[in-house]
Amino acid sequence: MIGAGSGGVRAARVASEFGTKVGIAEEKFLGGTCVNVGCVPKKLFVYGSHFAEEFEDATNYGWNVGSTSFEWSTLRDNKTKEISRLNGIYEGLLTNSGVEIFTSHARFEDHHTLVINGNRIRAEKILIATGSTPFVPSLPGSDRVCTSDDMFHLEKLPSRIVVVGGGYIAVEFAGIMNGLGVETTLVYRGPMFLRGFDQDIRRVVVHELEKKGIRLMFNTNIKRVEGHRDRFVLTTDRNSSIDTDLVLYATGRKPLTSDLGLENTGINTRENGAIEVDECYQTAAANVFALGDVIDRVQLTPVAIAEGMAFAQREFDHRSSSVNYSAIPTCVFCQPNIGTVGPTQEDAEREYSEIEIFESSFKPMKHTITERDEQTYMKLIVDKESDKLVSAHMVGPDAGEIIQGFAVAITAGATKAHLDQTIAIHPTTAEEFVTMRRSRTN
Ligand code: NDP
Repeated sequence: MIGAGSGGVRAARVASEFGTKVGIAEEKFLGGTCVNVGCVPKKLFVYGSHFAEEFEDATNYGWNVGSTSFEWSTLRDNKTKEISRLNGIYEGLLTNSGVEIFTSHARFEDHHTLVINGNRIRAEKILIATGSTPFVPSLPGSDRVCTSDDMFHLEKLPSRIVVVGGGYIAVEFAGIMNGLGVETTLVYRGPMFLRGFDQDIRRVVVHELEKKGIRLMFNTNIKRVEGHRDRFVLTTDRNSSIDTDLVLYATGRKPLTSDLGLENTGINTRENGAIEVDECYQTAAANVFALGDVIDRVQLTPVAIAEGMAFAQREFDHRSSSVNYSAIPTCVFCQPNIGTVGPTQEDAEREYSEIEIFESSFKPMKHTITERDEQTYMKLIVDKESDKLVSAHMVGPDAGEIIQGFAVAITAGATKAHLDQTIAIHPTTAEEFVTMRRSRTN
């Protein structure tokens, strides 16, 4: 296996448990993007940034919090300590499963041979699970910007930041920085960020982020970045400029295939570098497989893990195993969170002859006695003909925790009638999903 991230580690462990002799090459860090510069440290930062609001809200609950201050190095270093612990756990998981770890770059000499640390290693089957890396568009001064990789190791917290992009990473880091007291501007090229998410969800998130003080600049492109160290000037295509201390580009991730020697294998790649595979993750070289971010299908950790599992079961246990790509739940850890499973309303309208929309917008109970003006929004889409639940979308605290259960319901084919028969847990936010009675008239 090449790459010890989410997909590679799962595939390696499972293959080894089936009795296969497995080696895994990793040149950077065990656990890949998710553990080291993605999901895990990001979520710790989200927790860290949310304390600011907790302190403010506490006063209405009778707590005198006193004066508070934030020390970036404490959060950063405690996060790094936890990641080192997880790296150790990953190492243990691999070695205890009998997987041999090569801490080095791997390069194909031919489709059966890898050169790792100067040694030639031949394998019957080879899996490429090398993941992805941040993509920064080329523009004057692009070498002055940082990416999400850098955000986890900043020497000091800036006073001001400009985040360019409008996807997961942009809105998540805008929320983290804003929560930590950094003056935050998000610049997005289109009319509204979070393309691909339900329109109502996007609208609510715009509103909530603006209420928290994040400056949103849509329909704006950056033409160049000037300055150095911690003073930058961004020139936009709208005849304006923005002064800032740090520029974060969160403009997508590209498949990581550099110096893999793919040219020696007969493997095909798409224009963006993604490795082409069939439904069994097999490349044009029949003994070489690829999965996870490097195939650029769905760039999500749990999907890479599922792909790694399916690959190992099929190739080393001769079981027909496949990944269910329908109804993939996902959470964007902006603040408040987005949780979603199933198609957007626009896509559902195209897919079904008639849909029903149920929705609810309210102030979470916690904030009924605080000064915080934060709304939670929840939306269900139902196929009128079959009564089946098609999607559940939400913006609100712990949306991911709530939506996970609805992903099970949708996968199991639950109907709106099932939700109506379900007893609520009171008082919770989640109960709204089982107490929505009247559909919206579109
Ligand atoms: P996304 O693909 O989510 O978003 C990229 C953003 O950058 C889009 O808004 C896109 O705009 C914009 N963009 C792309 N190219 C340019 C350009 N040349 N100039 C200006 N803007 C540009 O990527 P992210 O980097 O946010 O995240 C990568 C992936 O990682 C995500 O897709 C997701 O799958 C995964 N991820 C998942 C998380 C989670 O599960 N919570 C958290 C973080 C990442 P447009 O929409 O107009 O194309």
